[in-house]
Amino acid sequence: MLLTLEEIFEEFADLDRQDQSLYLLELGDELPELPVVARTDENKVHGCQSQVWLITDIDGADDSARFTIVADSDSNIVRGLIAILEASYNGKTAREILEYDIDAVFHRLNLQQHITPQRRNGLRGMVDRVSKLARMHLVQSGGSEPDAVNRVIGETRSARERMLPGTPGGQPQLDAKDVAVLNAEDIRRQFPVLCQTLPGGSRPIFLDSGASAQKPQSVIDKEREVEEQYFANAHRGTYQFGQRIDEEFEGARTTIAKFLNAPSVDSIVFTPGTTIGLNMIASGWGRRHVQPGDEILTSVMEHHANFVPWQQLAKERGATLKLIPLTSDGRLDMDQLDSVLTRRTRVLAITGMSNMLGTINPIRELVRRAREVGTCVVVDGAQSVPHLPTDVIADDVDFLAFSGHKLYGPTGVGILYGKPERLEEMDPIIFGGHMISEVHIEKSSWSAAPARFEAGTMPIVQAIALGTAVEWVQQTGFASIHQHEQKLTKETIERLQTVPGITIFGPDAAHRGGIITFRIDGIHPEDLAAILDQHGVFARHGHHCTMPLHTYLGVSATTRVSLAAYNTVDDITALMNAIEFALKKLVKR
Ligand code: PMP
Repeated sequence: MLLTLEEIFEEFADLDRQDQSLYLLELGDELPELPVVARTDENKVHGCQSQVWLITDIDGADDSARFTIVADSDSNIVRGLIAILEASYNGKTAREILEYDIDAVFHRLNLQQHITPQRRNGLRGMVDRVSKLARMHLVQSGGSEPDAVNRVIGETRSARERMLPGTPGGQPQLDAKDVAVLNAEDIRRQFPVLCQTLPGGSRPIFLDSGASAQKPQSVIDKEREVEEQYFANAHRGTYQFGQRIDEEFEGARTTIAKFLNAPSVDSIVFTPGTTIGLNMIASGWGRRHVQPGDEILTSVMEHHANFVPWQQLAKERGATLKLIPLTSDGRLDMDQLDSVLTRRTRVLAITGMSNMLGTINPIRELVRRAREVGTCVVVDGAQSVPHLPTDVIADDVDFLAFSGHKLYGPTGVGILYGKPERLEEMDPIIFGGHMISEVHIEKSSWSAAPARFEAGTMPIVQAIALGTAVEWVQQTGFASIHQHEQKLTKETIERLQTVPGITIFGPDAAHRGGIITFRIDGIHPEDLAAILDQHGVFARHGHHCTMPLHTYLGVSATTRVSLAAYNTVDDITALMNAIEFALKKLVKR
């Protein structure tokens, strides 16, 4: 005797997760079998990991006819899910089926925790099949479809299910007067690597966070917690560790989606980092949409990761690479934008903040102008996302990529955000694993985003810890960190300007973030780096992966200081003392 939906709700209510699984198995056990003759290819629901067959029995030809769904699977737990679908849909008309909120049933039963991404695809496949059959019946019986269901129901529902609840994150008011002042010494104490004493007796002065930031204890603890307590591959097993890891992994995705104010968690793709993310966009989206004769617009201040993929794409597709001119102080020359951003510009690939000049680019204004000519905007957020508030809805960017390791998180993980419709237009460039929907000898098909772009085993521990890093930034106070960094940047520039023979590249403190790059007459950056290191001051020298910019500026190498939440005024004093020592030692005056 099959249970009604209300009876299922009642029995489910008090069960814990494990008992719910057993209960689903029991429900499956009681489901009548579909006759073998109905187990045909035609009746198969695609996208399920287990085999599922589904047919309908309709008790009439007009639009008041009622549906009976009969389905079966070779997996008992899936049969349990089928029993719930049958209890939900059976006895309804086609119109009622199309209007029915099946997600509400899944939510009420708290079924999400039993629905691995693969199973979600399968369940969506079943819901889609039922909807399709209901729609066909309505059309054949001369009835019209309800407005809300002109799209594929399963997809609409799935996107809604994964929509972010309430007003997400919201972006901090950076200029607000009541922003708490950051105590950088307190912050510093949360970073074990900075609390050690170096062999010479000094503490490490870390001024290279633009390359990679350090990690707070909470991020290190999270990585350890995962490894020690419940590590398993993600989106694979439904055993206890598998369920926990999926919850944590998807939880991190939600945290990051809220942090960026993304429209849906499905627009957040885990990647190995900015470089891979940008290459995925250039290859996966660019190859499909950039045509011979098109133009790709970028700038000379780009990191190689946001320059070379577009240069290569332009070559491959017969497009032209164009550059937005710079002003003499290293900003984008917005007065000349119209001369390079035209109806021929297919893509504008631009950094949110230069990793050499520190320049903060006016992304919102660029997007506004790009919209007027129908250009897709890709933002390299490697430097901007960790230090500037990012609101992908307000900014209206099409794509954004950044790395975890510059945001107090682990290496090997990053994020590619894409507007849902842009991700739809993008092809995967790496195949296998969780991105697969079905594989046949002749052809294959892919899962929906974000899974479509998450091939192979993900950097699971790192992704989870990146969620913790974002939480750390939010708890510490993004606005407080930002104000602290801006104040320290201003002070660093002012003090560096007193150094004889110094050239500081980039705009004034009001137009830049905490990256300060310079050269001192008579001191090679490599020599300076060695002396800084002797003093326990860790800064970077070289071309910082911006060779075109160094060529444009007429220098081969520079010294770069990049700041983060844990840097203090004392750090800048240590930098200045080391520079003074270098001047005495190396400059013959
Ligand atoms: N873009 C910018 C502006 C960067 O600063 C960096 C890192 N230096 C990257 C891209 C590349 O980031 P990743 O090495 O993490 O891929």
